[in-house]
Amino acid sequence: MQIIHAKQVLTDGGWHGELEIIIDESGRIAGVGPQIRTPTQRVALLLPAPLNLHSHAFQRAMAGLTEARGPDPRDSFWTWRRLMYKFLEQLTPDHVEAIAALVFMEMLEAGYGAVAEFHYLHHDVGGRPYANLAEMSGRIVAAAVQAGIGLTLLPVQYQYGGCDLRPLNGGQQRFGNDPDRFLRLHDSAVLAVAASSPDFNTGLAPHSLRAVDPAGLSTVLAQAVSGPIHMHLAEQVAEVEEVRAHLGARPTEWLLANHAVDERWCLIHCTQMSQAETMELARTGAVAGLCPLTESNLGDGIFNGTTFLGQGGTIGFGSDSNVQISLFEELKTLEYSQRLRDMSRAVMATSNRSTGRVLFDAAIKGGAQAGGRNSGRIETGAWADLIGLDDDNQWLCNRRGDAALDSLVFGGGGQACIRDVWSAGRHVVKDGRHVRRDAIVDSFKATLRQLETSI
Ligand SMILES: [Zn+2]
Repeated sequence: MQIIHAKQVLTDGGWHGELEIIIDESGRIAGVGPQIRTPTQRVALLLPAPLNLHSHAFQRAMAGLTEARGPDPRDSFWTWRRLMYKFLEQLTPDHVEAIAALVFMEMLEAGYGAVAEFHYLHHDVGGRPYANLAEMSGRIVAAAVQAGIGLTLLPVQYQYGGCDLRPLNGGQQRFGNDPDRFLRLHDSAVLAVAASSPDFNTGLAPHSLRAVDPAGLSTVLAQAVSGPIHMHLAEQVAEVEEVRAHLGARPTEWLLANHAVDERWCLIHCTQMSQAETMELARTGAVAGLCPLTESNLGDGIFNGTTFLGQGGTIGFGSDSNVQISLFEELKTLEYSQRLRDMSRAVMATSNRSTGRVLFDAAIKGGAQAGGRNSGRIETGAWADLIGLDDDNQWLCNRRGDAALDSLVFGGGGQACIRDVWSAGRHVVKDGRHVRRDAIVDSFKATLRQLETSI
């Protein structure tokens, strides 16, 4: 049993001072109340640790390597695509496990308590299945166990190279399954997750309306009787045009007209939605999965946050390409995108909650919903996904309540204030460092040395 005493705590009902939080042996919060017992840990500020709702772990190894231009000035994705496919010729299960362990460790150090891994790299080079069809899924699970992060594994159904149903070629073949083989892979992945940690769970992810045809989507969804459903929705203009040309409607329009989208759904990248689509999606209760740092890096566009939240929509945050792992920077980047577009300040704030508070509340609530994880709040019965922060520093020394969250999000020192992180009670970040940092970083460096990265 662990007993935390905190000077300030963000609970479901708001801010409370001087609370005692008990974590039981199962990793759940067993009590929240006045400080009575001798603590095992003291923290200044205690927050729920959000779930990172969208990650492609292996892309972490590409961070910083795709910022140059190629020979065609109109093709700004040239270097990104080239390196992605170069990696796909090389990555082994060992590489993927080492990269995923590093990125999961970095997520914990950034304050995320769990991750929904949108996992599509299933097969060996050339699309040859491994002897264990779910080998790569197993490596993601192993990496999560190694890092101690809570995991929602989302095996991805990916069948075609575009809406014209062209076959996958080159590196894409490593992603591909027809619906039958995908469902077998998914069953194996479910077993691997069930054999790991009680807080881990599984969902299902059709990649996008470009990579799955309508019949395949229906087949796969018919098997998704429980758990989260994630899908890339409308990220870039060319994607919207391609879907419109083949399915007769924009991706958001088509999905809402053809499937019962509800709270189980998380739609990733809603950067290309019309005003009407934004309002309609908000009313479904689905989570809009935003990845502001990656969307900025890739030049995807700006999510219409004011309209979506104005309609009562639910948002959450993910790190997607993992180009930079920073919870507070993700929140700030979303808000700044709205400010730059609207030439306005404190855009996401409400009459009784500051901008940082609105964004953080969204991250914990939307993340838990998207991951189907009993977390995102400091309350008896929830998994103990917690962030403990120090306030004896230049960023938080005189900050209380919402002003503390605003300082963490906008003041630039947010991550440096993080001292402790728990994931389902696993105390994996202590004094600002992951407890297995050295071994995980050494293994990642050894992997990077084996990968050819020249373009
Ligand atoms: Zn993605």
